[in-house]
Amino acid sequence: MPAESSSPARKIPAVERLLQILDDQDLPRPIVVEIVREYLGELRRASSIPDSPEIVANLKRRLDEVRLTRIQSVVNATGILLHTNLGRAPLSGSAVRALADLAAGYSNLEFDLNTGGRGNRGKYVERLAAQLCEAEAATIVNNCAAALVLVLRVLAKERKEVVISRGELVQIGGGFRIPDILETSGAKLREVGTTNRTTLEDYHKAMGADTALILKVHRSNFVMSGFVESPDTALLVALARERGVPFVEDLGSGALVTTESFGMRHERMAKEVVAAGADMVCFSGDKLLGGPQAGLIAGKKHWIQSLKEDPFFRALRCDKLILTAMQTTLESYLSLEGSGTKRGCRNPDVPVLEMLAQSREALMQRADELKAACSGMPLKTKIVEGNCEIGGGTLPEVRLRSVALAVKPTVRSVEECAQTLRTGQPAVIGYVSEGWLCFDLRTVFPEQDPLLIECLRRVL
Ligand SMILES: *Cc1c(COP(=O)(O)O)cnc(C)c1O
Repeated sequence: MPAESSSPARKIPAVERLLQILDDQDLPRPIVVEIVREYLGELRRASSIPDSPEIVANLKRRLDEVRLTRIQSVVNATGILLHTNLGRAPLSGSAVRALADLAAGYSNLEFDLNTGGRGNRGKYVERLAAQLCEAEAATIVNNCAAALVLVLRVLAKERKEVVISRGELVQIGGGFRIPDILETSGAKLREVGTTNRTTLEDYHKAMGADTALILKVHRSNFVMSGFVESPDTALLVALARERGVPFVEDLGSGALVTTESFGMRHERMAKEVVAAGADMVCFSGDKLLGGPQAGLIAGKKHWIQSLKEDPFFRALRCDKLILTAMQTTLESYLSLEGSGTKRGCRNPDVPVLEMLAQSREALMQRADELKAACSGMPLKTKIVEGNCEIGGGTLPEVRLRSVALAVKPTVRSVEECAQTLRTGQPAVIGYVSEGWLCFDLRTVFPEQDPLLIECLRRVL
């Protein structure tokens, strides 16, 4: 039947045959089947059909693309410590061991081992958080955005207006805009002052019968300089007291150790906000604190209690894995206390802080070793100043001095090399600067150095 055999659709292989050829794909079979069906569907609508080998090659490429969307470990050579796209803070070995131990079995998540009755989820972690923030009480929810929504929901229930400086109506990363968060919580925005200047008087004038609270938001991911003014926390606390409304501060990063010890400027700590008299302060668990994704809220006991009694708290509560990782992380901060070492001299077992603490000499030595290990490979190498920053909307103007290995392949383009590394196993994410592919060593774990070399060798 000449008419039929010349029909292009005849050239499309059967699904079963393609599945046999693609048998070695390490993706669940239903996913492979779906991808094959989708592609063949497209081919049936296409005007020309490629040959079988090309069809198989195209399918393999699509399967590779899907495989790269699986959550997997990557080597972070970007120099950005709290890279939101790369999962922010890595967990410590002790947190990971605690997780492995707990996750595979049962736990006393809500069971009181003292009485044999129902227990209180997160009670001990809350105690740790409260102690570290030097607050009456604390609690933990899914992230800092959730913490803010919860706080606003509870505080702006009857009176609706949240007084906030125009200079703090910030957008923090994708999909987190303070005005939107306020609206979502049912609160009404009462902006005061101007972008660069807000005075205490501005707050004063804006407050009235419908004022629910004063909110201060850490600018986190940008810096204003020049003709800038805003009242500090203590003044706002005094005003809030005078007018009989609570004061809340969204701190964002929430360092638990002083950042000066890492040669950076001081990043405000939750305990300072608490000491200034704030009713509540909230901050992220996976920024400078260096734990799992979470939002910590510390402050006055009766407010924390109100948050926990709100039905919405149930929707934001953390699971046992997060609580376990947070418990271990917070304990490592507290284990420094009273251990004979002066606080700040030794760092807690928190990878982000270890990375911050790495000396330039140590980084330089690693760079020298890596450079030497590259000899014989078809590339030029040099050691350059790194591009290190904190990321995650923390201390945006801070550039940490760092060291990077820069390579320029002689056999392939820099872009090609970067892409092959990014799509490899494991993925290595560097950055291109002035025509060189750079690997900032501060965010690469020293034990990953041999892996970095192996990946480079493979690519070349
Ligand atoms: C990062 C940040 C948040 C959001 O924190 P998540 O834990 O990512 O939800 C909120 N407020 C400020 C000021 C921040 O810097």
